[in-house]
Amino acid sequence: MIDCLFCKIVKGEIPAEIVQESERTLAFRDINPQAPTHVLVIPKGHFANAAELALADDGLADEVFKTAHAIAVAEGIADTGYRLVFNTGPGAGQTVFHVHGHLLGGRGLTWPPG
Ligand code: C5P
Repeated sequence: MIDCLFCKIVKGEIPAEIVQESERTLAFRDINPQAPTHVLVIPKGHFANAAELALADDGLADEVFKTAHAIAVAEGIADTGYRLVFNTGPGAGQTVFHVHGHLLGGRGLTWPPG
């Protein structure tokens, strides 16, 4: 997708601090971190949101989840707990319409979220 910010990160046209990369996924640190660990995990292919990704039904959502957990382990937050958030739609705060899981941890996380 031509004007998608995260497609540009995938292509290396916009810089990002890459944490992990595989053939079909990319993880990079959020530019405006909300927790000591705040990593965005995306499929390299363009899907607008989590629902579109799930409907692709090719195991890609599984890869995103597994990538997020592997990063949580590597960051040392898997045992204490972490949050994986997919804001879906503008009403939920989604601002970039290329599906991304926010992996958040490293501090106490309250519930309900704001
Ligand atoms: O869920 P939402 O769509 O609001 O999240 C988008 C996220 O992308 C924000 O947390 C923002 O800080 C992040 N971002 C980034 N690098 C960019 C642009 C946005 O990490 N170049």
